Amino acid sequence: MKPAGQNIAEYMKGHALYGGFLLLKLACAALGAAGVLWFLNRFWPPHTPLFHLNRYQFCFDLGYTTLAGVWFLFSCGIFYLAFWDQRYRCRTCLRRLLMPIETGSWSYMLQLGRPKMEYICPFGHGTLNIEELQITGAIPPGWTEHGDIWTELFAAPGAGTGSDDDR
Ligand SMILES: [Zn+2]
Repeated sequence: MKPAGQNIAEYMKGHALYGGFLLLKLACAALGAAGVLWFLNRFWPPHTPLFHLNRYQFCFDLGYTTLAGVWFLFSCGIFYLAFWDQRYRCRTCLRRLLMPIETGSWSYMLQLGRPKMEYICPFGHGTLNIEELQITGAIPPGWTEHGDIWTELFAAPGAGTGSDDDR
């Protein structure tokens, strides 16, 4: 087994665009959280520098403390959303994955495999498999890359080997 850090580094190298998009979203989330905190701080004296809680009001003023708590939950929420959204995006073109289908079956596990949710990129770059039951800790979703299915589908007529008898 390779250490998790090395796996992540390899993964990020292979998916620079995908990783960059996540970083961009995290930066936007941080900016959004900072912006909301700045807006909140405007209503309570004294003037508080950016990215700081007002320490003269926090734990002393009930309204400010409550709103700071709500702000904290909101910040956690947007960071969570950034990661959640990333999971369901194509690793090649960053589009949202579509058409979830259930595959596998517990009763026919040997033939069909374990139950999974399978998502596909609308442009056919790949499919994502998410295990239904995660017993051994969180199992990272499996991404299977495909060739460009559309070029294959619209390949020049006559390229195949089949005859025209079945028309
Ligand atoms: Zn794609």
